[in-house]
Amino acid sequence: MTRRELYWAALAGTLGIRDAMASTKPSDIATTARSLPSSWREDFPTLDQQIDGRSLVYLDSAATTQRPTQVIDAIVDYYRRDNANPGKALHALARRAFERYEEARAIVAGFLRAGNPQEVVWVRGTTEGVNLVAQAWARPRLRAGDEILLTLAEHASNLLPWQLVAAQTGATLRFADVDAAGRIELEDFERKLSARTRLVAFSHVSNVAGYVNPAAALCARARRVGARVFIDAAQSAPHLALDVRTLGCDFLAFSAHKMLGPMGVGVLWARSEVLEEMSPYQAGSNMAHDVDIDSYEVESAARKFGAGTPNVSGPIGLAAAVTYIESLGRSAIEHHEEVLTRHALARLLEVPGLRIIGPTTAEQRIPVFAFTLAGRQPREILTALDARGIAVRSGDLSALPLLKRFGVTAAARASCYLYSRTDEIDVLAEELIRFAR
Ligand code: PMP
Repeated sequence: MTRRELYWAALAGTLGIRDAMASTKPSDIATTARSLPSSWREDFPTLDQQIDGRSLVYLDSAATTQRPTQVIDAIVDYYRRDNANPGKALHALARRAFERYEEARAIVAGFLRAGNPQEVVWVRGTTEGVNLVAQAWARPRLRAGDEILLTLAEHASNLLPWQLVAAQTGATLRFADVDAAGRIELEDFERKLSARTRLVAFSHVSNVAGYVNPAAALCARARRVGARVFIDAAQSAPHLALDVRTLGCDFLAFSAHKMLGPMGVGVLWARSEVLEEMSPYQAGSNMAHDVDIDSYEVESAARKFGAGTPNVSGPIGLAAAVTYIESLGRSAIEHHEEVLTRHALARLLEVPGLRIIGPTTAEQRIPVFAFTLAGRQPREILTALDARGIAVRSGDLSALPLLKRFGVTAAARASCYLYSRTDEIDVLAEELIRFAR
């Protein structure tokens, strides 16, 4: 067998089609692997287009995903039939808008395995979720001498809100180190935890390294010192089944747009008893009733954080995305993403001078690949690929401390999602090889 045949044979093994191998040529297996999600692929109209005469290769899904027709239709359908300012005891359209909005909350609660839909707070995205916890939970509670433990792998959105609240309260930020593959160093994490640690915040999966951190173990360690724990699930919610009960966190946030849903909506999940002890983040209609010139009654749980007319179509779109993902099946998605990851690592490591920032093995990893190319600026890589219709991202990837830990201040990043195909990774790898030369 040639190296390529061996590779496809191994891939066929991971696909569970080993038995078909005996009667199948390597080229057929390649086609099988490539066409795995073809029925899924047809659901994504944006992906079916040409950029300057070449087929679009969209490898920027960690920044935002494309949306399936099912999500687009759910949003359009809401505006066509049900749109009104929601109200449980008002006219027919207002009632329908209310029901669809609350049904979306229940679907998202199910997605997180949350005990109660009223633990699901709608926010604009992960960034607003972090700010809500920083301002509504941490700011009134922290003071000089208290510590917030983060890691070096945090996205700017899980760093700046804590810098701000540290400056407001006098609390100190500490940072757990990462290892040579960008994984949180458990020993260093443990060493930096103490009775002074009031809050721990970490990304479940880094948007640069792509490694899945052992979130439940980190939460258990943080709880031992009595700290509250916030999980940034922006990059894990799209790829992994989440269960807030087994994770053991107090807060978890993610963004709809990174998992097939619309922009401008996301979720902050918080444990009921923690939500109850928090004061409102913003004030206005809907988060309180009997509002008079000198008195009001604050709503409870998630409603306390929903000031003003809500974004109704956003949660409806996110619920449609959750339903779509669940209809494909988590294990089918994980399987396909593992195929993509193995393929991408093998092909990218063939590119001369390419260095992956993050693990170079496929285990415990999502298909996000940050890399540098010897002698080439990340910006030049982006421009060269863009000229070929290939969409990647470059820059500090909003994670400068992590890049610096790897001795660079910028990198390029190719990121896949459930609609990505191995032949698109081949196009990327071949263009990179040409460009590296
Ligand atoms: N955390 C991580 C790990 C992310 O990747 C992102 C988005 N790139 C964010 C937080 C912020 O998400 P959003 O911009 O949707 O609020």
